[in-house]
Amino acid sequence: MRDGLFTMATDGSARLLGGWCGTCGERHFPSTASCPYCSAEDVTEAPLSPTGTLWSWTAVTAPPPGYGGEVPFGFGVVELPERIRVITRITEADPARLRRGQVMRLEIVPLHRGEDDRPVVTYAFGPDER
Ligand SMILES: [Zn+2]
Repeated sequence: MRDGLFTMATDGSARLLGGWCGTCGERHFPSTASCPYCSAEDVTEAPLSPTGTLWSWTAVTAPPPGYGGEVPFGFGVVELPERIRVITRITEADPARLRRGQVMRLEIVPLHRGEDDRPVVTYAFGPDER
């Protein structure tokens, strides 16, 4: 997981860091140096909404190559109000407990222990229970 994908807001909630293009006004995730829509380099990093709606999902039961975390884990697509679809881990691994259009909230979750035994974290979306 590379740095700069997410940030913690002052209220403790996590936000994904997207890019906002000053030329065409489109947003994208993850942020890139040039706009994927119009190629302008007028991109500013901007936090995205912490909640979105569940668009599609599945359970990953076989660990991908190089993956040191637990299986099964949920994986899917969450659509943010900015009209961005984020491919993401889902905290709920049982597909039967999810439904299309469900409100999902961003969370930072432990993934595995790194080589130096420090915890490695990543972002995931989970059912919004607030
Ligand atoms: Zn643009």
